[in-house]
Amino acid sequence: MNPGFDLVVAGAGVMGLACALEEARRGAKVGVFDPGLTEAQASGAAAGILVTRDAHAFASPFREFYVRSIRAYPEWLAGVSAAAGAQVPLHREGDYLVFDLDDRAGRERLEAKSRQLERERSLAFTVTDTLPPLLRGHCALENVKVFHFPEEAYVQNRELISALRSACGKAGVVFRHCHPERAWEYASGRTLLAFPEGSWEARKVLIAAGAWSLRLLESLGVSAPIIPVKGQMMRIPKFHGSQSMIHFNDALYLVPRGDSLVVGATTEPGTWSEGFDGAGEAFIASQLRRFLPEVSRQPLEAWSGLRPRTRDRLPWMGWLDLDRGWAICTGHYKCGISMAPLAAQCMVRLLHGEKPGFDLAPFQPWRKQGLTRTPRAEASAVLPEASPD
Ligand SMILES: Cc1cc2nc3c(=O)[nH]c(=O)nc-3n(C[C@H](O)[C@H](O)[C@H](O)COP(=O)(O)OP(=O)(O)OC[C@H]3O[C@@H](n4cnc5c(N)ncnc54)[C@H](O)[C@@H]3O)c2cc1C
Repeated sequence: MNPGFDLVVAGAGVMGLACALEEARRGAKVGVFDPGLTEAQASGAAAGILVTRDAHAFASPFREFYVRSIRAYPEWLAGVSAAAGAQVPLHREGDYLVFDLDDRAGRERLEAKSRQLERERSLAFTVTDTLPPLLRGHCALENVKVFHFPEEAYVQNRELISALRSACGKAGVVFRHCHPERAWEYASGRTLLAFPEGSWEARKVLIAAGAWSLRLLESLGVSAPIIPVKGQMMRIPKFHGSQSMIHFNDALYLVPRGDSLVVGATTEPGTWSEGFDGAGEAFIASQLRRFLPEVSRQPLEAWSGLRPRTRDRLPWMGWLDLDRGWAICTGHYKCGISMAPLAAQCMVRLLHGEKPGFDLAPFQPWRKQGLTRTPRAEASAVLPEASPD
């Protein structure tokens, strides 16, 4: 029997790792288990885009949380890098938003974006009617509106995940590359998690298993309306010399990765199938043909990830069962890389009975459209595999 953990985290994506590190920094003994540890699922698949659109007024708590989290990135990333002993740079290289005025969808997206920028009192951008130099000779569009946000940033999310793992390891976090063999047992303030290599006892447990939280919760007698939303991406050779991001019609993005570009992504709700397939290839090829006909569509690499989406598209961050010390942090859908710094800070404060620093009421997991209890049919204890197919 393990001597006991202050916190055990289910899931080693960006949310689980960020929370584990935050907790370990307080001197707590932390364990993380994940049957698919090396995959990192959505967190490894992401583009790493962190864009605030220079927002200063917020129409929703979600938007405010998201923007505040991105603004916390420089300090948080510096802390993760220092703890890992590996520099993870924040690439503050700007973003071009190109809208095709000859296309109805492009005009509608432009109108929506303009309304958003006005509503959020954004200032730090310029607007032109001409393509930026990096697109000249490559882009087929003639009638455009181009916004340039010079302060927008991205992070190489795979580097981030690897640094988080290493920082956690150096902070004493213990990892298990599996899931418990039986249902969790709870008694006298402790949760017992039985692994093939031996049991763990935990004072608190945090579920941060992304889309798979659904099945994990099912095994605890909780119905969690999580919708996996598949995103397919590819990497193509870089055709320009800039480090800026580009968004076309708010539908296709290109994010630099060294001498290549990450291009994506599909939005396919309700599928558990993993891997790059014909739908991803067709979507990206058609978008590239449309906006950048001369550019190579030969992928250097192609992949997919499952984004965890809730019914109301708001994350679940709060107590699953306060008496047992079980909490949840998932459902960040398309924004989990961006939201990790503030989510980790808030969740760990919550676990310690402190004020989270942001009102988490809108993200409370038992809200309407959130979690519900199912008759607990002496829960099938064995937790699901990370890759159901
Ligand atoms: C194509 C794509 C592009 C994206 N681009 C961006 C972007 O540019 N910016 C941004 O902010 N966000 C982006 N996102 C969203 C972001 O990646 C997610 O919101 C975020 O990674 C979710 O993190 P997570 O830790 O909750 O889940 P995941 O990263 O999915 O991690 C969940 C972990 O739980 C593990 N697990 C599964 N079953 C169990 C079990 N039974 N027990 C324990 N662990 C288990 C899995 O193996 C996995 O490692 C993108 C996502 C995709 C797919």
